[in-house]
Amino acid sequence: MEIPFHKAYTDENDTAAAVAAINSGWLTMGPRTFEFENKFRAEVNASHAVAVNSCTAALHLALKVMGLKADDEVIIPAMTFTASGEVVSYFNANPVIVDVDRETHNILPEEIERAITSKSRVIMPVHFGGQPADMDSILEIAKRHKLLVIEDAAHCFPSFYKKRPIGSIGDITAFSFYATKTLACGEGGMATTENAEWDEAMRVQRLHGISRDAWKRYSKEGTWFYEVIDAGHKYNMTDIQAALGLAQLAKADRMWQLRTAIAERYNTAFGGSEYFRIPVIHPENKTSWHLYVIQLQIEKLTIDRNRFIELLAERNIKTSVHFIPLYRHPYYKKICPVDFNRMKNSEWLYERIISLPIYPGMTSAETDYVIDNVLELTRKYGR
Ligand SMILES: *Cc1c(COP(=O)(O)O)cnc(C)c1O
Repeated sequence: MEIPFHKAYTDENDTAAAVAAINSGWLTMGPRTFEFENKFRAEVNASHAVAVNSCTAALHLALKVMGLKADDEVIIPAMTFTASGEVVSYFNANPVIVDVDRETHNILPEEIERAITSKSRVIMPVHFGGQPADMDSILEIAKRHKLLVIEDAAHCFPSFYKKRPIGSIGDITAFSFYATKTLACGEGGMATTENAEWDEAMRVQRLHGISRDAWKRYSKEGTWFYEVIDAGHKYNMTDIQAALGLAQLAKADRMWQLRTAIAERYNTAFGGSEYFRIPVIHPENKTSWHLYVIQLQIEKLTIDRNRFIELLAERNIKTSVHFIPLYRHPYYKKICPVDFNRMKNSEWLYERIISLPIYPGMTSAETDYVIDNVLELTRKYGR
């Protein structure tokens, strides 16, 4: 048996939707993109949704319309993908990396508080694996220090914080529709917000800085007329991606249930074992189950995490590590070096974490195969 780390859950509906978009004669941003924005917005209870070509683009536009300046500081967690930090660098602003919680892998409010300076502008929590960060504390800190909150919700469709869907809680929320994410268009992203001005500004910025008001103000000039009001970006979604997005959205609930069922089987299999800690989900929250991360109790094993991954790979089970702590990468060592001793939990996690395959099309035989092999390794290499 061979278990990939991820496999897209596509069927005839997805391909038919993409083919219909192609056959419509309109390939780029158009009616399907606007329909996708409206449906997605409704799903996450947000007032506005702006479709773009990646979550990274959504994070970039969010910081831009908020007016981030050079030397400003954006507080981000250590356990994230580089997208959360690179967008800060685009402005010559500074990412400030802080430690995370050992159970949830999410940013720690007390570490945010410690990192705040007169240059702080934005807090950017990353909802790890789909489990929301402690938003009540984060919003309270942001309010007290007059900071804005951009949520990196790349893992979060659908996720709920105390029964509220992620998408309307912070100032701007950025979702990813990258190939391996829970709703996949190949590439794609969405920025949601309650702020109409930011919504409008992001719409202008995603398409070259072209003003949407051109037609209204100069209607006599006809449809050829437009005005460029800023050096914007080429970040728009295409209708082919949006068609896939709509088809995926229609079955998002089923995909979520399928991932949840796999997570529950993993929990049952590994929860009783002294060799693992299983994911801890706050009872008031719901995770999208984008990731299923086990923590190896390495003190009780004769092999380390890397060897564990190798041995699983030898058995044709592909796993991953989310994440290599951001401050360990050469780029971040250069621009914002941190003392590893101040990152105790991230360091602790980095030695122990393995992301197991979890994708909607995974069969129960495949899930059993992963469980059996993981447990067998602990029998072989347990102390
Ligand atoms: C995948 C991911 C992103 C980037 O998403 P793209 O759509 O590929 O730009 C950002 N942040 C986190 C935490 C991610 O996992």
